Amino acid sequence: MEKKKSTVHLMVAKEAPQETALASRFGGRPLIPRAATPVWPCCRECKEPMQFLGQLVLAPEKGERLDRLVLLFMCSADTCETWDAEQGANKAMVVVGNSWKIWEPPQVGGSGTPLLRSDAYGVEVVDWEAQAGDGDAYDPARQSWADAHKVARRKVVGQMFGQPSWLQSADHPECPTCGKEMAFIAQVEEGPRYETSMNFGGGSAYVFCCGSHAAKFLWQQ
Ligand SMILES: [Zn+2]
Ligand SMILES: [Zn+2]
Repeated sequence: MEKKKSTVHLMVAKEAPQETALASRFGGRPLIPRAATPVWPCCRECKEPMQFLGQLVLAPEKGERLDRLVLLFMCSADTCETWDAEQGANKAMVVVGNSWKIWEPPQVGGSGTPLLRSDAYGVEVVDWEAQAGDGDAYDPARQSWADAHKVARRKVVGQMFGQPSWLQSADHPECPTCGKEMAFIAQVEEGPRYETSMNFGGGSAYVFCCGSHAAKFLWQQ
């Protein structure tokens, strides 16, 4: 049987852009619309403020001019169910705007885990063609990109759009605003450096968004 080739939009780690630049990146402080005054998200389970993981830039919606940004937060406590899109131990926020400012995290007491990561990196989206093996083309694409560039596979920090490569069964969250199945926007790996990586249990996170209604994420291992 002939195996089909498909193009995967890999996210490859690169040097972190300036924090003020409207760019997809992991680490650093989040950007929010200049006029916004949101409250830093707290974990619904342990009530502690969550750590900012990173942000993904999305193009404006059809007929709109405002850029969209999805901000990802996750609780650092081992005891909270951070994998679940609905438990409140992680949060994806979609914010829209055309003028941005840096969102300073709140001050926390000595015992709290840092609200910002110790690592920061940008992402470059690379279109890479690969042959799907038994599953989808994402894993083969990740491996062949790493092989072709003679670097570790973890330098590929995910993919944008395309098809999610599920580690468990498919799990598309519903939009809390309109009830429709949310669109898949990114799959995110734990990061290019083991010591500073995000904790997805060794697996991947999956990010979804519905227009400017809402965003959600979950992880699987
Ligand atoms: Zn928690
Ligand atoms: Zn919706």
